[in-house]
Amino acid sequence: MSRANSMVLIIGGGTFGLSTAYHLANAGYRNITVLEKGATVPSPLSAGNDLNKIVRAEYEEPYYAELALAAIAEWTSNPLFAPHYRQVGYLLGNSAAALEKSRTSLAKSLASIQTHPAFAGQITPINSREDIRAVAPALDGAMDGWVGYFNRLAGYARSADALRATYDAVNGLGVGIALDDAVATLDYDGHKCVGATTASGKRYTADVVILTMGASVANLLPSIGHQVTGRSWAIAHVQLTPEEAAKLAGIPVTYSRDLGFFFEPDPTGLLKVSPSGSGYTNKNKETGISVPPEDNNFMPPAEEEAIRKVLREHLPSLAERPLVNTKICWCADTADTDYIIDFVPGKEGLIVATGDSGHAFKMLPLVGGWVKDVLENGKQDIARWAWKEGNNAGGEVSWRVGKSRDLNDYT
Ligand SMILES: Cc1cc2nc3c(=O)[nH]c(=O)nc-3n(C[C@H](O)[C@H](O)[C@H](O)COP(=O)(O)OP(=O)(O)OC[C@H]3O[C@@H](n4cnc5c(N)ncnc54)[C@H](O)[C@@H]3O)c2cc1C
Repeated sequence: MSRANSMVLIIGGGTFGLSTAYHLANAGYRNITVLEKGATVPSPLSAGNDLNKIVRAEYEEPYYAELALAAIAEWTSNPLFAPHYRQVGYLLGNSAAALEKSRTSLAKSLASIQTHPAFAGQITPINSREDIRAVAPALDGAMDGWVGYFNRLAGYARSADALRATYDAVNGLGVGIALDDAVATLDYDGHKCVGATTASGKRYTADVVILTMGASVANLLPSIGHQVTGRSWAIAHVQLTPEEAAKLAGIPVTYSRDLGFFFEPDPTGLLKVSPSGSGYTNKNKETGISVPPEDNNFMPPAEEEAIRKVLREHLPSLAERPLVNTKICWCADTADTDYIIDFVPGKEGLIVATGDSGHAFKMLPLVGGWVKDVLENGKQDIARWAWKEGNNAGGEVSWRVGKSRDLNDYT
């Protein structure tokens, strides 16, 4: 079937879904529909529904370092994405109290870029308070014994803005987008997936269905719940005065691996802070599968103290301020933190693109192209992104500290 005629149904209009619509529409597909549960883009449930996300290319795995570099090239040059990218640099390190695991992870991240030609002259080691002052004078916390490095070839994306821009772009390319109606079931003719039906009863038929539902994917595809675990982290903001915001304008994204991270204030003076740690699942007691609950506008009690600790270390004058717009944000974790972009085995016409493992917003400009490759190739040739039957989701991730907990333990 030709690209122009092939009916493609994308379920989930978040980071992966909108990027997929963008790449397919640009490649000449003319019959694309995106079905999105949320009433707006970004949807409240999208992991990208946030002021900002880190864009950096250091990874423990050189494979992802290369992909992230390609993504940064798009963030800096593609007129769709560039207005939403701020290359303010990335100050990454560990506080004096960090555990060995956190230090090892940092060393591996640095190793992935240290000798890479793209980073020549871009990295400054940070070994003292003076070194911190030289690259981020506005950080006035003690940061005693804080060690790490400053990477100039990095920054952040204004993620909600970038998703809105992508949504407008795909709208302009003729993609149909239906909001405010969750897909309730996938429709099959034997093994062939032939479309989907929404909660309001609307039926959509398709030649190929692509699931890009992030952490919620197991709701429609329970068999993936053994590879993908919905996991969440807290996000909070401090409202700054215009004077305070001006003082912190242009600060690098600052990430103490063992404590958490924060960004320069947004244009309204909101400073976003997020604690590190291994997050929270929401496991169904019978199946053990974790997907997000309906309401995510709350924080588990322990997270407030963790967020204040981040502020105390780096920006102590903000440490006791009210925290606003608090929520938990969900990603789709795999055991090895590799994405899953593949046809679903045992079905026809059904592709899944998920498993972002908390590190895929930066790939917004590219990820849809990888989905398109699988669609056109008829299979996934990249082993690390293949469907992995029996993989035990949510194992020990080297770059996360602490133990993952379950939200049900707090209710
Ligand atoms: C706390 C946190 C911090 C992060 N920080 C970073 C970072 O700094 N840098 C970075 O690169 N990445 C970061 N990420 C990861 C990044 O946000 C995700 O990798 C990316 O957004 C995942 O995209 P997705 O399309 O798979 O999921 P989402 O963007 O969540 O999209 C899924 C979409 O599916 C929709 N949906 C769900 N169920 C249905 C249904 N039944 N019917 C229709 N639609 C449905 C949802 O409403 C949503 O819009 C972070 C993630 C978290 C959780």
